[in-house]
Amino acid sequence: MNYTLEAFFWIIIASIFLVSLTVLLTMPKLHSKKSKDSGVIHHLKESNTGDRRDRGKNLNQESFFMIKTESLATHFPIRDFFGSELGLVKAVDGVDITITKGSTFGIVGESGCGKTTLARTILGLEKSTSGSTILGSEMSEDRKETNIEELDRAGLRELRRKIGVVFQDPMGALNPRILVKDQICEPMVIHNQKEGMRERAKELLEMVGLNPDHLYRYPHQFSGGQRQRIVIARALALEPKMLILDEPTSALDVSVQSQILNLLKDLQEKLGLTYVFISHDLSVIRHMCDRVAVMYLGKIVEESEAETLFSNPLHPYTQALVSAIPSLDPKMRRERIVLEGDVPSPADPPSGCHFHPRCPIAEANCSQVYPDLREIKKGCHTACHLVK
Ligand code: SF4
Repeated sequence: MNYTLEAFFWIIIASIFLVSLTVLLTMPKLHSKKSKDSGVIHHLKESNTGDRRDRGKNLNQESFFMIKTESLATHFPIRDFFGSELGLVKAVDGVDITITKGSTFGIVGESGCGKTTLARTILGLEKSTSGSTILGSEMSEDRKETNIEELDRAGLRELRRKIGVVFQDPMGALNPRILVKDQICEPMVIHNQKEGMRERAKELLEMVGLNPDHLYRYPHQFSGGQRQRIVIARALALEPKMLILDEPTSALDVSVQSQILNLLKDLQEKLGLTYVFISHDLSVIRHMCDRVAVMYLGKIVEESEAETLFSNPLHPYTQALVSAIPSLDPKMRRERIVLEGDVPSPADPPSGCHFHPRCPIAEANCSQVYPDLREIKKGCHTACHLVK
């Protein structure tokens, strides 16, 4: 009898302990759901399209490039249980882009088109299968153009100091159990730049529009927009020359999105940063970017200056994407092109032009031969047999 009572007692104690632990672990998430953005709603600043257009033209010179890819490919093998290769996912397949200093290069396309893998390969986080990524003289220590494949561990570490990354989900990017101060200082600790790092962290918070006292709070005590500001502050900790912004506003409310976009524009102007801006939202791409590359199943199908691409899209896929952008101006409205079918699997892309099963103007030749990316007019490249 005594044994039964004792066992019962210990079961009760263990249950109380487990329930308390579960509550403690889920607290930050509950807080984060409750928190609301306290910032004032700002509307997007009038985009300085004239300046941007000029900037795009002036910067479209190879001599100012920060990063250039040549026939870059990143393929992932599909293996069975025993490790035998069954096929390949061609996430990035022969991409040529040039990112010029001080500009914003946009990469747009549907989910799974290879945007993020391209960015990860540029960062050296994915090993390329073929082709090359060349760092401009600004990006390498000895001021010489360098192939990223030739970098050793120290070189890759240095590269990551020069390129900051901002991801889509700020809550996922921050550790809910670590103070903001320690998260902003983390890159400085890793790169051994500890001197004066607390002051630097305060400066960074001010730079992104937060109060220096916020250093001593946890991420769950902030709204979504404020958390993304913290992530941006951390990305700037090592004074990078370039930021890769991977869907930085997709997880935010529309009103907060505009605040973050304005902040990014201000920071670019102030710090002379170069951006790679990845998004599936064409309105955001249009507002932010100087040049834009449209990706479809791992390949670039159109690349040109943002204004040219949005005012006169040439590739049928780009035309369909642009036609879906809502506009309040009746003159800017286009007839909506609805694409039939889903995006095919990158593990088994259609023959010839990968877009042919969904293309409204496809011809017999389109399913046989892949169209090269050709310069149709100065600075405007398209991969379509029918665009002259
Ligand atoms: Fe359409 Fe053919 Fe042009 Fe491909 S090559 S986009 S299928 S017209």
